[in-house]
Amino acid sequence: MKRIYLDYAAGAPLLPVVQERLQEYLQESPVGNPSSLHQEGRAKQAMLDGVHTRIAGLIGAQPTEVVLTSGATESNNLAIQGVVAAWRLEHPNKTPHIIMSAIEHPSWYITAEHIGAEITKVPVSLDGVVESSAVIQAIRDNTALIGCTYVNNEIGVVQPVAAIGKNVQSWRKNHHSPWPVFHTDAVQAFPYLNIHSGHLHADIITFSGHKYGAIEGIGCLVVRSGTPYTAALRGGNQEWGLRPGTENVLGAISLVHAMQYVFENQEAIITHVTSLQEELETSLHALLPRVRILGQLAPRAPHITYLWLPDVADEHIMHKLDLQGVAVASGSACSSGAALPSSTLLALGFNEREAFGGIRVSYGWATTDDEIKTFVHKLNQLLAG
Ligand code: PMP
Repeated sequence: MKRIYLDYAAGAPLLPVVQERLQEYLQESPVGNPSSLHQEGRAKQAMLDGVHTRIAGLIGAQPTEVVLTSGATESNNLAIQGVVAAWRLEHPNKTPHIIMSAIEHPSWYITAEHIGAEITKVPVSLDGVVESSAVIQAIRDNTALIGCTYVNNEIGVVQPVAAIGKNVQSWRKNHHSPWPVFHTDAVQAFPYLNIHSGHLHADIITFSGHKYGAIEGIGCLVVRSGTPYTAALRGGNQEWGLRPGTENVLGAISLVHAMQYVFENQEAIITHVTSLQEELETSLHALLPRVRILGQLAPRAPHITYLWLPDVADEHIMHKLDLQGVAVASGSACSSGAALPSSTLLALGFNEREAFGGIRVSYGWATTDDEIKTFVHKLNQLLAG
């Protein structure tokens, strides 16, 4: 049985172009540590320099603003720790305040909750959208950091991050202050939405390679120059001293080729994935009208559909689909294994029992129309049976 993979938001397939580049690199198997001063080391450093320059070009940043990391969880941790450390240096003996949307990814909200800060979670509408004005109204004298994910990883809702970024910049200007810093996690936004730094007005931005067809264990954090930020990790000068430790060169090569490929093919990918979403959601409505698609009235990214299934536990339906050859995520794949209700669904007003009742279907460039049709057919059979 050929399996149907519908979990792109957790991890997309390795792109053929990335596989080719990695094979070339492995065949050459260049020796050397990028930090070494000999020719071999310098050659590796030159590869990394190229990666920084090309990623910076895609995002509208400077190469020195791109910090390679192991992925988005680390990027989000570094962002929060680096900004809060800088704030504490400037405000000794004071407690920082952090504002976030009520539906942040666990790598954001759990890190923020453990840093000894006052926390404000700005509620979202029933469709999962945060109001930019509510975020700005929550700013206090001690607000160090504001975090808002661009595209929610569970329901795919797009947040008004450019408006928040602009308003934060105006607030800082009016208050003659470098605070608060604005961070956005743009992991699920690329390549579907505009991630250019000039558009986003964000000070710090997170990306994760394996969502775009790179290998796992690579991502980056873009820290715009002038942002108050103190290195959270120490002991080396790699990545401008902000992420010390020998770099993952193989991962970095895969990241740049994946990002470049999806960026260059952005229009075709968006057209294809949007038509898959239309196909999926139209046939679900027709065949299974009692299944709800969350965030449907809000702006949504084209690659995620969250199905809320009344009276069905998500783990059961996910496992049944798995046995039928279809891979989907139960709630957030990032938290699977931990049987907790979805924090996003709780924030949308679902109760604890209801917050278990969903599956996330996510798709991408290699998904076919037939795969979507087969999925809908199998789900229909399972729910009927
Ligand atoms: N943020 C978002 C919005 C995500 O979707 C994910 C992955 N589900 C993460 C952070 C964590 O990413 P990584 O696996 O690269 O640590």
